[in-house]
Amino acid sequence: MASNTIKRIQELKKSRNAVILAHNYQRGEVQDIADFRGDSLELSQQATRTKADIIVFCGVHFMAETASILNPQKKVLLPDASAGCPMADMITAEQLRQKKKELPGATVVTYVNSTAEVKAESDYCCTSANGVKVVNAIKSKEILFVPDQYLGDYISKKTGKPMHLWPGYCPTHVKILPENIIQRKKEHPKAKVVVHPECRPDVIALADEVASTSGMVRYAARDDVKELIVGTEVEIVHRLTKENPGKKFIPASNKAICPNMKKITLEKVLDSLETLTPEVRVPEEIRVRALIPVERMLEIV
Ligand code: SF4
Repeated sequence: MASNTIKRIQELKKSRNAVILAHNYQRGEVQDIADFRGDSLELSQQATRTKADIIVFCGVHFMAETASILNPQKKVLLPDASAGCPMADMITAEQLRQKKKELPGATVVTYVNSTAEVKAESDYCCTSANGVKVVNAIKSKEILFVPDQYLGDYISKKTGKPMHLWPGYCPTHVKILPENIIQRKKEHPKAKVVVHPECRPDVIALADEVASTSGMVRYAARDDVKELIVGTEVEIVHRLTKENPGKKFIPASNKAICPNMKKITLEKVLDSLETLTPEVRVPEEIRVRALIPVERMLEIV
């Protein structure tokens, strides 16, 4: 029974001195048992602050890796080791090394949705919440942005800085199409539209606001927002609804589901706390190199 599972998770969390972090795209019941919910930036900041010995990361592999990069002395658990991110896998360290040879003067800005090996080859990391700030802070005239072409395009337009863009994308966000937004606006004419910068540019062009999931949480709380069409992974609606009683949140597309985010269940969280597996640990040689762009990012925000 779910209530027994939750009770056992709470007990083990105490006895193991563990903290549970959950991304905004996690199943509602997993978000509800977490100590902290947020986007990748908030969760990586939380990971640096925690006094817990064990971090149970309810998210995908690169997020657990980032927590491990920042906390080598802690045990980081990812309740389902197969929860990966297809976008992160769209560039390898070898491909990035090759591209750097082609663009020897370029500063490499890497979206946090990337493997530790790719971060280790990068100058700066950024998230969807701070990408504009990070790119604005870079003096270099030439920038290579990897792996998300759409986030890169959005940041490039916002900062006015042309960038070389790696052709990666999020398979979940590209399912949101302009016609979905147009249809939803017809159905809910008074609603505002917020979309994630991983969406296609023709979707972004139809939005009132472009925001990371933490930005969406703030936007949804505004007094002038009563009804909101939300262009990102559908599960964000769980948190928005819970935190804003009386307001209406409509997913832009019900197809925008990240199957990897859904791999984590309450049962797997419990199992992970019981067995202290599966652990995500970044090899030290990669970790120390990957830490540099992550710390540069955290200094800017
Ligand atoms: S929503 Fe997209 S970017 Fe985020 S984990 Fe899933 S596939 Fe990766």
